[in-house]
Amino acid sequence: MRTDGRRSDSSDEGLDASRPVAVVTGAAAGIGLAIAERLLADGFAVGVFDRDAALKTRFAAAEAAGRATVVVGDVTDAADRARLIEAVAAAHGVVDVLVNNAGIGGFGERIGSLDLAHLRTTLEINTVSVAAFVQLALPHLQRSERARIVNIGSLFADDPAEGGTDYTLSKGAIHALTRILAIELGPAGITCNSIAPGYILTEMHRAEVALQASRLGIAVEERFTQLRAQVPLRRHGTAEDIAGAVSWLASTDSAYVTGVRIAVNGGVSFA
Ligand code: NAP
Repeated sequence: MRTDGRRSDSSDEGLDASRPVAVVTGAAAGIGLAIAERLLADGFAVGVFDRDAALKTRFAAAEAAGRATVVVGDVTDAADRARLIEAVAAAHGVVDVLVNNAGIGGFGERIGSLDLAHLRTTLEINTVSVAAFVQLALPHLQRSERARIVNIGSLFADDPAEGGTDYTLSKGAIHALTRILAIELGPAGITCNSIAPGYILTEMHRAEVALQASRLGIAVEERFTQLRAQVPLRRHGTAEDIAGAVSWLASTDSAYVTGVRIAVNGGVSFA
């Protein structure tokens, strides 16, 4: 029996106990899917989680190969969160990397019409659940020799837009939490960093652009063109652009980096 908590009882290559283990929330689509796929390609075993049951088909092959633990659930549900972390610990014995990615785009209400129930929902999903996952994963991260927490924040944490009270509060808090965790968990050898994506082509962004276009009374394609013009690299980001940054933060190369926010946004700035 190994003393580091990792499984060592299988000869199946997929259950190789030396594989690092990553947990990724919101992995059924968009950025989370790309992150989980990238970490699988990097040699990780993954615990993947989403409320969208499409998660099961997306990771069926990896699950069959013993490389993925798949749990469908909601990040705001304490029992669902516990099911994920317990299933990963049972299958792999440890959590090396926790990627808090699941999130929603907020409800787009200006302060005068802000529904406080919507604000609470956004904070519960985007922020409170992140702290809760860190708490649950902590005993398992403490057993890892390469423990990492990566939180997905947003460009809009610092560069808010009208109607963004709920989303900006939720993501600003993520970057603040990241700094706090770096300070509190650093002595245990756990690093914590965040990524602030810019305009990334996912369903969340497409829905937001469609809304903006209808408010502006212009075609959706025209709004996409306007947004690209704000970006020095003159293109939208891809989910794989974000996954590449997560891959580095999850790797041993980033061992001495903690408490930082990496902007992956093509250079966009509203200054
Ligand atoms: P996405 O395409 O909407 O994917 C998010 C995934 O998370 C979906 O599968 C979604 O399921 C799931 N999810 C949402 N709420 C959940 C909950 N309560 N419990 C479990 N799963 C839940 O979004 P994305 O663009 O990939 O965004 C990923 C992260 O990046 C988010 O934190 C987002 O705020 C951040 N981000 C994105 C952009 C961008 O431009 N795309 C920019 C900055 C930051 P459903 O489909 O059922 O909702």
